Amino acid sequence: MRITKSSVPGVVWPALPDARTARLLALLWQFEQCECWPIGETLDHQLRQLSLIVDHAWRHVPFYRERLEMAGWSAGQMLTLEQLRRIPVLTRRDLQDGVIALRSTVLPQQFGDVRESRSSGSTGQPVLVLRTAIDGLLWQANALRDHQWHGRDQTLKLAAIRAVAPGVADPPQGAIAAGWGPASEAVCATGPAALLSLSADINTQVDWLRRQAPGYLLTYPSNLMALLDHFEAARERLPGLRAVLTVGETVSLRLRQQCREVLGVDIEDVYSSQELGYIALQCPVSGQYHVMAESVLVEVLDAKGQPCAPGETGRLVVCSLHNHAMPLIRYELGDYATVGHSCACGRTLPTLERIAGRERNMLRLPGGGQRWPTVGLLPYREVAPVRRFQMIQHSLEDVEVRLVTDRVLSATEESQLARMITEALGHPFRLQFAYFEGELPRPANGKFEEFVCAIPAG
Ligand SMILES: [Zn+2]
Repeated sequence: MRITKSSVPGVVWPALPDARTARLLALLWQFEQCECWPIGETLDHQLRQLSLIVDHAWRHVPFYRERLEMAGWSAGQMLTLEQLRRIPVLTRRDLQDGVIALRSTVLPQQFGDVRESRSSGSTGQPVLVLRTAIDGLLWQANALRDHQWHGRDQTLKLAAIRAVAPGVADPPQGAIAAGWGPASEAVCATGPAALLSLSADINTQVDWLRRQAPGYLLTYPSNLMALLDHFEAARERLPGLRAVLTVGETVSLRLRQQCREVLGVDIEDVYSSQELGYIALQCPVSGQYHVMAESVLVEVLDAKGQPCAPGETGRLVVCSLHNHAMPLIRYELGDYATVGHSCACGRTLPTLERIAGRERNMLRLPGGGQRWPTVGLLPYREVAPVRRFQMIQHSLEDVEVRLVTDRVLSATEESQLARMITEALGHPFRLQFAYFEGELPRPANGKFEEFVCAIPAG
């Protein structure tokens, strides 16, 4: 990565970055060193860092006091792997119930400002987490690492089609930003970035992409699938496109192949979550995913809670190494992964062969269009005590809203939910609410999807 931003007038080369950028680059430099460390050394450092988080949680986060003591933790000690495995897993349900008890009562100034992040993950269970500025710095350093690994030319145009708030990057024009985002722009002069809201239907997206002619396209796999079908039918490509970057959902082998055939470029995927930031990046050499071991400690557990061996698939349980505002210790995301093998690229970061996270259907509109349903990002719990949600589109006019709630909702709460959901769907569908106890029904394959289009194809 070429560093071209200098903060000192009169000095352009070598560039002298400002203090924050210098920190970012210092992280990136360290990442390059530790990603090739001997196996075992990384884990030692992770446990050293996690000991500080656990100690902070024991002192200042009421939720953890008892569970850490029961796991044998006492103040000021060094955490071992065995001890870590005795700490009970933190579930999304714990996070929903314990949003106050999980907040740190003391947050030293050096960790910076606190921000809120919302997510429904792959299980339709909305949660809210707090993150610190230091945590955000690690997030940005990993974003730069992703660009660096894949050798991206950041002077090209980046076009992103993603879920944004209404009024931001509305179709058909979208919006243009001067650069690729705070991490890249801190380091170098990037090309522009074009943004289009996912509320655009596929035809509008295709027209927009033709006009933008980007070097890179960023979007969600389910949306990409609909775009590829369109480009395939039109026998059309996007000249100048170097790669498609995907986030947010599971990428299938079939989608990778289709992208190569239709657009002539590869998919470069990242596995991240709003709660934890970057968890793993796709390796540019092998296609496996490398865990971002400097910011998260990842376990893959079998049904008995024991670690899976390479080739085995289990539940993903993750510790955030730098979130002092709301420590996430052994947090179960609700996703599954297959443990990978040592990688031909020479990096010794832990590997995941495959990640099975969120899958999504596209919403079908009465006019014949399709769009990506943004229902996963809504602040459900600010409106009503929603524990789990799922939506099933039964026809071009009917959507069933399945809910598990803590108590019976009032008529006002239900109508507020209806208003919020209708706005997110972008069409006045007839909404039918259905309430369930405890769990939502799962299909025979066990794969939960927060939005299901049940209209037969064709
Ligand atoms: Zn690799």
